[in-house]
Amino acid sequence: MPEFGDIAIGKRGGMDVWRKCKECSRGFWTPANKDYGTCFLCWYKPGAEYEVQSGASKGTVYVKLAEDDPQYDMTCKFGFLGGGWVRRGRLVIARQLRRSLTEGEVVRRRDKNQANDDVKNLYLQRRGAGFRWWMKKDRKSF
Ligand SMILES: [Zn+2]
Repeated sequence: MPEFGDIAIGKRGGMDVWRKCKECSRGFWTPANKDYGTCFLCWYKPGAEYEVQSGASKGTVYVKLAEDDPQYDMTCKFGFLGGGWVRRGRLVIARQLRRSLTEGEVVRRRDKNQANDDVKNLYLQRRGAGFRWWMKKDRKSF
């Protein structure tokens, strides 16, 4: 284990410092020019939102849930900032229906805007329904 205050070359080539989290006392690496005070597990409290900055799902907002949340079973448990994250659109629909969505249910957006998670903009589809509709529409077959 590194000592608090230790410095190492960070992932992006800059200097990283091993700091002690003010809340949970765990150690964590952070860039030398930034002092967040807490580790990322304490920083992202239940209810926190995280917007994807790049890639195919850019603009998608994830929400962190507490472990006793009724919709916690919808979240991804591993990796990704300590787990417990769910896409905000799915959460909005789940809260509306008062039940968790299954793997086979996909939340789609009428205006195709990933960031618009208004209830009126969202609708539920079965996984693969869009594809079946497309097949029927053009009478395609393989
Ligand atoms: Zn912490």
